[in-house]
Amino acid sequence: MHNRQSWENRLNNQQFCSWSVINGERYFAKDGGKLPVINPATCSVLTEVTACQKADIDEAVHSARRTFDSGIWSGQPLQVRKAALLRLSQLILEHKEELALLESASMGKPVMDALNGDIPGAAHVIAWYAESIDKIYGEVAPTPPGSLATITREPIGVVAAIVPWNFPLDIAAWKVGPALAAGNSVILKPSENAPFTAIRLAELALEAGLPPGVLNVVTGSGIEAGAALGKHQDIDVVTFTGSTTVGKAFMAYSGESNLKQVWLECGGKSANIIFANCRNLDEAAEKAAFGICFNQGEVCSANSRLLVERSIYPAFIEALLSKLHAWQPMHPLEPQARMGAMVTSAHKEKVLGFIATALEQGGELLTGGTACEIEASGNYISPTVIKIRDENAALWREEVFGPVLAVKVFDEEPEAIQSANKHIYALAASVWTDDLNQAHRVARKLNAGTVSVNTVDALDVTVPFGGNRQSGFGRDLSLHAFDKFTKLKTTWLALR
Ligand code: NAD
Repeated sequence: MHNRQSWENRLNNQQFCSWSVINGERYFAKDGGKLPVINPATCSVLTEVTACQKADIDEAVHSARRTFDSGIWSGQPLQVRKAALLRLSQLILEHKEELALLESASMGKPVMDALNGDIPGAAHVIAWYAESIDKIYGEVAPTPPGSLATITREPIGVVAAIVPWNFPLDIAAWKVGPALAAGNSVILKPSENAPFTAIRLAELALEAGLPPGVLNVVTGSGIEAGAALGKHQDIDVVTFTGSTTVGKAFMAYSGESNLKQVWLECGGKSANIIFANCRNLDEAAEKAAFGICFNQGEVCSANSRLLVERSIYPAFIEALLSKLHAWQPMHPLEPQARMGAMVTSAHKEKVLGFIATALEQGGELLTGGTACEIEASGNYISPTVIKIRDENAALWREEVFGPVLAVKVFDEEPEAIQSANKHIYALAASVWTDDLNQAHRVARKLNAGTVSVNTVDALDVTVPFGGNRQSGFGRDLSLHAFDKFTKLKTTWLALR
C-alpha cells in the first residue's frame, strides 16, 4: 500500500549515498569537495555528495582498464555475464521502492511514475540485454576460394556513460545494460542533480556478482568530472545523453584527446501533427497533454510543438485544455500526482523566462503560464499552452524542457511537414490521422529518429531511440545499441 504518509516515512528514514563507487569500494574525492543534492519539492538539502575531479577520474579509469584487461568480466563465458546481469535486474526490482523514492526526491518526478515506470523499465532493459548477448552471431564473409574470413564483435574496452537527471536510472540502464553485456568495463557519471540511483546501481551490481571495477560510478559536476572523462586518454567510448551544447563539448574533448568514439543523444523539440482525418480527437488531445506534461515536460522527446489542421483547431484546443486540468502539479509523493516539481528552482526560472519571452513575441496564452507554490516550494509550473505568432518565436525554436506547449495552425499537409522538419532538432515526431496513406506518406517525409502514428513517444527496448541533426546520432535501446559498445574484427585465413 503506497500512500503519502508511507512515502514520507520512507523519506525520513532514507540514508542518501554521498560517495562514488570505484573498484568496488566507496570512494571520496581526494580534495574533499562535495556538491549538495536538493529536493525540489521541499527545497531542502538531502545530502552532499562527493565531487570527483580529474585525479579521481584517473582512479576510476585505471580501475576500469585493469579490470577489462584482466578478462575477469570481458573474458567470461557469456552465460556468466548473463547470470550476473539477470541477478542485477532482479535486485533492482527488489529495491524498487527505495530506488523510486531516490529518483523522486532528487529530481521531483511523481514517485508513483518512478515506481511503476522508471524502475521496472530499468530492470527490464538490463534483463533484455542480458538475454540478448548469447543470441548474437558473427558473420562469414563471401571471400574468394582459398580463404575464410570471419567478422566478429568484441567489447571495445572502457566505456564512459554520461547521463542527465530527467530519467536517471532508465537512461543509465539503456547504456550500462548493453555495454556490460558486451563485456566492457564502464564508468557511469550521473547528473549532479540526481546521482543516487546510479550509486545504488553500482552497489547492487556488486551484490549481483559483477567483479569490482567493472561498473564504477563517479559523481561530480559536469565541468570537472564530466570534462575529465571526455578528455581522458584511456577511455575508448563516450556514450552521452544530455543537452546539445554539452554534446558538442564532448566532440571537442575527443578531438583534443585520444579520438575516442563519441555517441550523442541530445535535445529535441518534437512536432505533434493533428490532421483533420484523425477520427478520435479526444484520444489525440489526451496524448498531446501527456506528451507535454509527462515528467513535468522534462523529456527530450516531449511533444512540445503542436501543429493542428485549421478545420479542427477550435474543437481540438478545447479538448486539449480540458485534458490539461488533470495535469495540475502536485507534491511528487502524492500517489495521484501526474506532474511533480521542476528539477531545480533555476530550471523553473528558465522555463518561466521562456513563457515571458513567448508572450513578448506576440504569443497568445491559452492556459497556464504561471508557477505555483505547493507546501512551501515554488518549483511547480502549471501546464501552459501558447499559440505562437510565427516560427521565429523562441518557444518554437528552442528546447524548453518544461510543461510548455507551442501551438501553430496549418492548412495543408506539405505545410505541416515543412513546419515539423524546419528545425535544428530531429529526435521524434507524432502524426494523428485515420488515413493510412497519409500516415505512411507523412511518416516517410518526417525527419526524426522515431515517428509515432496515432500515439506519442512510442518507446520500447526492442526499437532504437535517438535522433538526427542536432539531436545527435547515437541510438540507445534495441540490438543496435551493441554497435556502440562493440568493435568489428575481421579474421582472414588463407587456407592451405
Ligand atoms: P546536461 O547536458 O546539462 O548534462 C548531462 C550530463 O553531462 C550530466 O551528467 C552533466 O553533469 C554532464 N555535463 C554538463 N556539462 C558538462 C561539461 N561541460 N562537460 C562534460 N560533462 C558535462 O543535460 P541535463 O540538463 O542533465 O539534461 C537535459 C538535457 O538532456 C536536455 O537537453 C534533453 O533533451 C537531453 N536528453 C536527451 C535524451 C535523448 O535520448 N536524446 C534523453 C534525455 C535527456
